[in-house]
Amino acid sequence: MHRRDKGGIKLKSPDEVERMRASGRLVRKVLNLMHEMCKPGVTTLEMDEAAYETYTAAGATGLFKGYPEYIEGKGFPANTCISVNEEVVHGIAGDRVIQDGDIVGVDCGVLLDGWCGDAATTILVGNVKPDVKKLCEATQHVLNIAIENIKPGRKWSQVARLMQNYAERSGYGVVRDFVGHGVGTQLHEDPKVPNYVDKRDSNWKEFTLRPGMVIAVEPMCTLGTAQTEVLADNWTVVTLDRKASAHYEHTIAVTEDGADVLTDGR
Ligand code: MG
Ligand code: MG
Repeated sequence: MHRRDKGGIKLKSPDEVERMRASGRLVRKVLNLMHEMCKPGVTTLEMDEAAYETYTAAGATGLFKGYPEYIEGKGFPANTCISVNEEVVHGIAGDRVIQDGDIVGVDCGVLLDGWCGDAATTILVGNVKPDVKKLCEATQHVLNIAIENIKPGRKWSQVARLMQNYAERSGYGVVRDFVGHGVGTQLHEDPKVPNYVDKRDSNWKEFTLRPGMVIAVEPMCTLGTAQTEVLADNWTVVTLDRKASAHYEHTIAVTEDGADVLTDGR
């Protein structure tokens, strides 16, 4: 039996958090490899296959291929999500060739010894336009704001408001169609972890941060509109105006005094 908070959110023991860190460390190893590989001329399929080889060799299984299980045969078709430029999330690896100036979001989730790790980064390839580079830096900063402000006893809205304010005051859109999530033995557990505050929104439910909660925080910020649409492949999410989008994610445990990032490679 898992311990849970009053709202039913599962709480992890220190031992379970350490097992999640092992999974998170492997995800970081994959993302570091993606960084090394992501050069002009490489295909997204080559990257995706290298990611698969790396986590499989470590005894893990991927969490994305075939997800979700309830749409049998129609789940996500690749091992990682690779989302280039205007693609927000859930891009499918294929014969697309990476070009100088691209920004390449890579999201990787693995299951190791029964515990999940989930993280994403956006890789800047060569000469990225200054406005797009600034978008990436700002989105990474939004994730850092969350890490610095996660404290037990705080409501999530206090953290999310700081994230949203920084992004929007910098002139960027905050994607609302996709949000972060609790993570543990399952990739997606309660609670939903939005990067904005809108208590009328159906994705929005307040929760209080408690020691032992583990959440995947994953801001997605855009150069133009925050509105998105899904392409005909049923997965790839793009910005409605086709302007660039950046995505960074960490799996984070709430401790007695703050945040413990489980996917930073320590
Ligand atoms: Mg992810
Ligand atoms: Mg996630």
